[in-house]
Amino acid sequence: MTIARQIEALIQRLDGVAICDDCVTDRLNLSVRSQANVVTRGLGGANGFRREKQPCGLCSSIKVSTSHHR
Ligand SMILES: [Zn+2]
Repeated sequence: MTIARQIEALIQRLDGVAICDDCVTDRLNLSVRSQANVVTRGLGGANGFRREKQPCGLCSSIKVSTSHHR
């Protein structure tokens, strides 16, 4: 599975809960945050994905986080 697909799957599993790039990086054990960022940036606005400044459901800090809504 590609990293992009793993990130998509993780965000979809969270089912509406937003996750920031740092937590994506942490959850998937990516080596650098920019790996997550390049994927999440591309997801915003497509196929139910939302990317906006909102509280991350995992670390609770308010920053640009990505969520998925059916
Ligand atoms: Zn977070």
